[in-house]
Amino acid sequence: KSGFISIIGRPNVGKSTFLNRVIGQKIAIMSDKPQTTRNKIQGVLTLNDSQMVFIDTPGIHKPKHKLGDFMMKVAQNTLKEVDLILFMVNAEEGFGRGEEFILEKFQTVNTPIFLVINKIDQIHPDDLLPIIESYKEKYAFKEIVPISALDGNNVERLLDQIKMFL
Ligand code: GDP
Ligand code: MG
Repeated sequence: KSGFISIIGRPNVGKSTFLNRVIGQKIAIMSDKPQTTRNKIQGVLTLNDSQMVFIDTPGIHKPKHKLGDFMMKVAQNTLKEVDLILFMVNAEEGFGRGEEFILEKFQTVNTPIFLVINKIDQIHPDDLLPIIESYKEKYAFKEIVPISALDGNNVERLLDQIKMFL
């Protein structure tokens, strides 16, 4: 099994930290180069039974007024072509304009989308369910997976769930 996975989300939600954890320091550091209009491979995770190619989708999380039509097209086409989208949000922050902007872009895309709620080490466990419920109202995510990219909590489970969609 192999497939392309696009990780999207606002800056600082933990995308690079997640990639660091699953792939390794070197590759994810390479991914922090300035954004270009081209999609870039951020890393490849090769397991004994599967391969996951993580790609960046520049543009999709940028405010609309700063974006050329071309970049938005590129971003949306990428989302249509990948096997799975990981939409990463920060558990510490509520649903905001940034999230709303990205969800709008999903309306024209049929690719399965996982909601990854990151930084759960920063919240009280009782606060998780309300967060999950609020996101369920916004979009029909295929999976909703709370993780901590920093301490690794639930990351293996997320990888298992990704595998099932490849
Ligand atoms: P990106 O902009 O989405 O790539 O976000 P980064 O991976 O650069 O992370 C932004 C900041 O959030 C860094 O200071 C990370 O150490 C921190 N961070 C990322 N994941 C977690 C997490 O699961 N828990 C906590 N507490 N901090 C995190
Ligand atoms: Mg980053």
